Amino acid sequence: MTRESEFRFAWRLAAAIFIAVAVEAPAVAAPLTVREVAPGVFVHFGAHEETTRDNLGSIANIGFVVGEKCVAVVDTGGSAALGAQLRESVRAVTRLPVCFVINTHMHPDHVFGNAAFSDEPGVAFVGHAKLGAALAARERGYLDRLHQEIGDAAAGTRVIAPTLTVASTRDLDLGGRVLNLRAWPTAHTDNDLTVLDAQTGTLWSGDLLFVERIPSIDGSLIGWLKVLGELRQLEPKRVVSGHGDAGAGWRAAIDRLEEYLAVVRNETRSAIKARRTMQAAVAEVGATQRGKWLLFDDYHKRNVTAAYAELEWED
Ligand SMILES: [Zn+2]
Repeated sequence: MTRESEFRFAWRLAAAIFIAVAVEAPAVAAPLTVREVAPGVFVHFGAHEETTRDNLGSIANIGFVVGEKCVAVVDTGGSAALGAQLRESVRAVTRLPVCFVINTHMHPDHVFGNAAFSDEPGVAFVGHAKLGAALAARERGYLDRLHQEIGDAAAGTRVIAPTLTVASTRDLDLGGRVLNLRAWPTAHTDNDLTVLDAQTGTLWSGDLLFVERIPSIDGSLIGWLKVLGELRQLEPKRVVSGHGDAGAGWRAAIDRLEEYLAVVRNETRSAIKARRTMQAAVAEVGATQRGKWLLFDDYHKRNVTAAYAELEWED
């Protein structure tokens, strides 16, 4: 080889190695945008969309609370890829370890990022006492749907069952900061859990509160209305809702959700009393609510179907 060709060969080799390394190296996730809604309380607000390959399941509000000893993540997003981005957001704020990953309930947009935190040393996955069974029953269906929605971007996503469960209430100590967890009777689902950061009066309501996006009834309509009354009495300073931004305006947000659920309850009861079929009820109930909620047509009919099934055998 001439000196020149040696040089060219070396350069090509270096270029080939560089390209190989660049292709092989795992992509470092970019941190999600988070807003510090209260000191040490960070939220990433999800989009009012269905899960797609572009949003990777970033359709619910997720975030974390930073203590003096460690960090608690509250919900992890709709895919492991999104969870990895959330983990980068934590890292951008603090080097403290993540000691708790709390899931507010079973829905995929809240739990499917869990895997991104599974190698945090000593981390506990925390959920309602009924969360494990609920996830086990739906695991296959949830995963199949995610693969349909986002294809190979679903790689690494898996169900992680809670390792620490809450049957009524439980306090988690983050060092100089305590989170009060509360498990609720069946409402949005049968495994709803709220997280109150006592220090700032911030309540993570999970999907017990929807703002702007139409709620989905996957538990009990009657139960949910009851729980909303109790949530009000907690008198938090602000609420991080499961969808949309409730913030300090949470009372009005609860009012709007109550209105929707009450309309569905009342009109479905009337339809049943008038011996209307389920199909007829689905076509008629809640028409006044259209236009008040985003994604109305995607969920409303299912909500009336669920309400009809629940109310049909009422005394
Ligand atoms: Zn939900």
